[in-house]
Amino acid sequence: MHPYVKQVLETIEKRNRHEPEFLQAAHEVLESLSPVFDVHPEYIENNILDRLCEPERQLIFRVTWQDDSGKVFVNRGYRVNFNSTLGPYKGGLRFHPTVNLGIMKFLAFEQIFKNSLTGLSIGGGKGGSDFDPKGRSDNEIMRFCQSFMTELWRHIGSSTDVPAGDIGVGGREIGYLFGYYKRLTNRFDLGVLTGKGVDFGGSMGRKEATGFGCVYFAKDMLERKKETIQGKTAVVSGSGNVALYTIKKLQELGAKVVACSDSGGYIYDKNGLDFDYLRQLKEVERKRLAVYQSKYPNSIFKPNAKVWEIPCTLAFPCATQNEIQLPDAELLIKNGCILVCEGANMPTTQDAFRLFESKGVLFGPGKAANAGGVAVSALEMQQNAALTSWTFEEVDRKLQAIMMKIHNTCVECATQYDNPNSYVTGANIAGFKRVAHAMMAYGVI
Ligand code: NDP
Repeated sequence: MHPYVKQVLETIEKRNRHEPEFLQAAHEVLESLSPVFDVHPEYIENNILDRLCEPERQLIFRVTWQDDSGKVFVNRGYRVNFNSTLGPYKGGLRFHPTVNLGIMKFLAFEQIFKNSLTGLSIGGGKGGSDFDPKGRSDNEIMRFCQSFMTELWRHIGSSTDVPAGDIGVGGREIGYLFGYYKRLTNRFDLGVLTGKGVDFGGSMGRKEATGFGCVYFAKDMLERKKETIQGKTAVVSGSGNVALYTIKKLQELGAKVVACSDSGGYIYDKNGLDFDYLRQLKEVERKRLAVYQSKYPNSIFKPNAKVWEIPCTLAFPCATQNEIQLPDAELLIKNGCILVCEGANMPTTQDAFRLFESKGVLFGPGKAANAGGVAVSALEMQQNAALTSWTFEEVDRKLQAIMMKIHNTCVECATQYDNPNSYVTGANIAGFKRVAHAMMAYGVI
């Protein structure tokens, strides 16, 4: 490890002692950047890394709301403005009981490099709350979103900070948030949030973008090895937005997806899953995955188990952080898995992805593979700014081109730094260099 990287990591560890996920993300990125500093001593002279690892601003606020019986609750709201070098802060909002400042910081930090890799003008941010939307009525969700926006509105804007969705925040929540922003500000400022409904400024293809983009990235990785998706068996973790559209695109390209999961367990059907029914259950009816068995009694629901125990050739972690640990990686390799492509953010631990790379398993890191979501969010901002809207086909074509460009950038950069098969090296270094270059141009700010 380069002595400068080591020194910055020591500082970060002292400053963020109680934030394990942020430290994990910082280690993962910084450790792969070492070779850059041998050729760019000016980044050391300007202490670029230390500056990049400290958020520009962090907001924490109280969110008070009432349930349907009138009981009053308090949650904590966050927005981390990590880095605005390349554009307005951009990153989703997560509503999940596990949310804390460290999780927000890890996600916002990852977002800096991901957004840089897209080649678009977007900085890195993330936000959310420890609010648990599970089991809440539409009215409760609406009241929570309105209370959340009562504070957030003064900090966001189309050229300052543009939130979108993430875990627990989809089209319904973005609708409530946008509606309340509009009411509070008396402005129909379309560019303030992305992931909006297509009737009020949302982009066609945004809902599908992260999952589709992830599969496009996997397809590009496989093609480089003269392989295809057609005929392969795949497993996907999660059954939310990213997982569903990963499954859809995999099936369209000829894979058999035999399993997916939610926090209750996984569903397995050796004949392949029924996407339309899954979508109806999870996206429309918001039911638990176990219900899938009521229509397909021959499928197996295994509670509290991970999908990685099911033999597959392609694996797509699309639920949450740290869901593939070293024993899961060992099992996947033993069962013949040749590709792991991250739809979620940091779903694979560092020791697990190192094992994949050392054993020749193609590994697509989330900051490259799941960048399709934020890329189409940026396309939504472009359409909003031009007061226009594109067809699904136009957006999908642009998404495929962006994913291929990200893929090729990773390969070129990894090759330049003598690690041609490591998408982790390529994604981290390419993402970092664009930001570092612009930070140098701005002087010390
Ligand atoms: P959703 O809320 O739509 O779905 C999340 C899915 O993951 C659900 O099936 C959920 O199960 C499961 N899950 C969430 N937390 C846990 C947990 N702690 N343990 C087990 N299962 C869990 O979220 P998204 O699909 O939008 O996001 C999934 C991942 O993709 C996240 O890592 C997110 O940061 C990342 N991502 C999302 C993008 C987007 O455009 N939405 C863009 C880029 C990355 P249950 O319902 O039981 O909780």
